[in-house]
Amino acid sequence: MNCKNCQVSLKNTDNFCYDCGAKVINERLSFKHAWEEFSTIFLNYDNTFLKTFIHLFTAPHIVIGDYLNGVRKKYLNVVSYVAVAITLAGFQVFILKNFYPETLDISKIQGNEYNPIQMDWLLDYQTFLFFLNIPVSAFLAKVSFFRQKKFNYIEHLAIIAYIVAQFTITSTLLTILSSSLGFNFYIFGNILNVLLIIYTSITYKKLYGINLKETLLSVFVFLIILTVTFIITTSLYAWYLYQSGAFENLI
Ligand SMILES: [Zn+2]
Repeated sequence: MNCKNCQVSLKNTDNFCYDCGAKVINERLSFKHAWEEFSTIFLNYDNTFLKTFIHLFTAPHIVIGDYLNGVRKKYLNVVSYVAVAITLAGFQVFILKNFYPETLDISKIQGNEYNPIQMDWLLDYQTFLFFLNIPVSAFLAKVSFFRQKKFNYIEHLAIIAYIVAQFTITSTLLTILSSSLGFNFYIFGNILNVLLIIYTSITYKKLYGINLKETLLSVFVFLIILTVTFIITTSLYAWYLYQSGAFENLI
C-alpha cells in the first residue's frame, strides 16, 4: 500500500509512514474514529490542550521555547492554539449577547447613549481585530526589547500569537463567569488588559532569561510608544474633526 499523505510505498503492517510520519488509517471516517481524533487532542490522558493551557501559565518559556526550537508533539502548536482561542471567543460573544446582554451596556463607562448597532459590530469583530493586532504587537515587542537580540520578527509573531491565544481563552472563561455575576463587560475588560501586560512581561522575562530591571525597562519603552501613538492618533482625529467642520458643531 501507499501512504495516503505522501504516496511513499509502505508495508501492510506499518502503523505510521516512515517518511512523513502520517498515521496509517484504513477504516472509513466514523463517529468512533472522529471521537478518537477529538479526544487525542482535547481529552486524552496526557491532554495536549490542557497541558498547553496550564504550562503557558506555569512555564510559558518552555511551551513557546519548545515550539521555537522545533518540538511539536508535546504541546499544541501555535496555529491550533489560536484556532481554539478564536472558537472559544465566538462562543463567549454568543453567550453574552443571548444570556447577559445587560452586561454589555457601554453607557456605564462612557456616559454616552448605548448604540446597539455600533456595539454589535465591535463585539462581532472584536476577536478578529484582536488577532489582526498580532503583527503590530510583535513589532512593538521587538522594538520594546531592543536590547535583546535573541528572537527575529517571525519568532516574535509566534510568541505574541501564543500570548494572545492564552489571554483570549482565559478571558473568555473569566468573562463568562464575571458576566454571570453581573459585572460590566467593558469595566472587566480594562482589568484584563492590565493583566495582559503583566502576563506578556513575565513571559518575555522568562523567554529572554533577563532580570526584573531589564524587563521593566522594556515595559517602560512599550508604554512610552503606546502613549505617543495615542497622542498622535488623538491629534489626527481632532485635526480631522476640525477640518471637516464637525468640531464647530460639537462646540
Ligand atoms: Zn507518508
